[in-house]
Amino acid sequence: MKILIGGGSGFVGRELTRLLISKGHEVTVVSRQPGPGNITWSDVESKGLPPCEGAVNLTGENLMNPLRWWNESYKKDLFSSRIDTTRTLAQAIAASPNPPHSWVLVSGVACYKPSLTAEYTEDSEWAPFDLLSRLVKEWEAAALLPQEVANTTRQVVIRPGAVLGRDGGAMKQMWLPFWLGLGGTLGSGRQPFPWIHVSDLAGIIAHSLEPPTPDTSSDSPQVLNGVAPALNNNYEFTKELGRVMRRPTLLPVPGFAMNALLGSERAVVLTQGQKVIPRRTLETGYQYKFPDLTSALEEIVGR
Ligand code: NDP
Repeated sequence: MKILIGGGSGFVGRELTRLLISKGHEVTVVSRQPGPGNITWSDVESKGLPPCEGAVNLTGENLMNPLRWWNESYKKDLFSSRIDTTRTLAQAIAASPNPPHSWVLVSGVACYKPSLTAEYTEDSEWAPFDLLSRLVKEWEAAALLPQEVANTTRQVVIRPGAVLGRDGGAMKQMWLPFWLGLGGTLGSGRQPFPWIHVSDLAGIIAHSLEPPTPDTSSDSPQVLNGVAPALNNNYEFTKELGRVMRRPTLLPVPGFAMNALLGSERAVVLTQGQKVIPRRTLETGYQYKFPDLTSALEEIVGR
């Protein structure tokens, strides 16, 4: 199959590209930069969707970009980088004479309100309650296809927790402090920490790109929680990472310090969390390679 990946140059996109190529598929990346195997967003806007059987959007300004202050311009970029690119792809799919059979958006679990007790499946009702949940609402809305196209193109929305892998995401930023023995629980440590190994997120996306069977077709988006089935909190994650790296984790970072450092609107993704259950993801038959923290962290640290 020919697969188009918006933001395919990033952390998740590189893992997905490796997986799809290993399965014999052809990948074209949509990027801000022209390059071999790439087309640009202006190419999609001016020439329309290139021929493809599947399309994915993974584009987005990094929420934890250490080089940027938390201010209005950064927040604007967080929204526009996700929403504008998603809309561009959805409109190109809708306008295509041969739309792909699958259209996958990767959004996030920030739509679910942080809680120490509530458990969220893909069917849980939610409404925006803060900046990041508003972002998810507008992002997923931008992906919706018109009814007549949705009859032929399956729409999938995957909501991942923190994506764990050696080459990017949260681990890339945690690696040095943990390696120096400066790792510690964040805030109370009791907050749920929904996570997924990058190779499983790539696997779930690839699974969603398979041609739909008549029993899976639906004209509304299929939502899949992109988290591991294990439910862990920040304390368990911190202690297990320290154990696997053979480093002490004795220095807790208080919540107020996280808020001061990151801005409270985004520190919530670390100081608070949600218990997210991948019920429908499991029902699709996807088999996790790393269903528990120990196997995931041993693979990442041992690499
Ligand atoms: P990356 O941070 O690696 O970014 C993906 C790509 O987005 C980049 O390679 C870049 O492509 C493009 N991009 C970055 N900034 C901008 C910008 N300001 N404007 C336009 N394009 C931009 O993302 P990940 O691979 O880590 O994540 C993929 C998706 O999954 C993202 O949408 C992210 O929000 C979501 N997600 C990720 C999680 C994680 O832990 N990593 C957790 C939950 C959700 P190029 O330079 O080629 O244009």
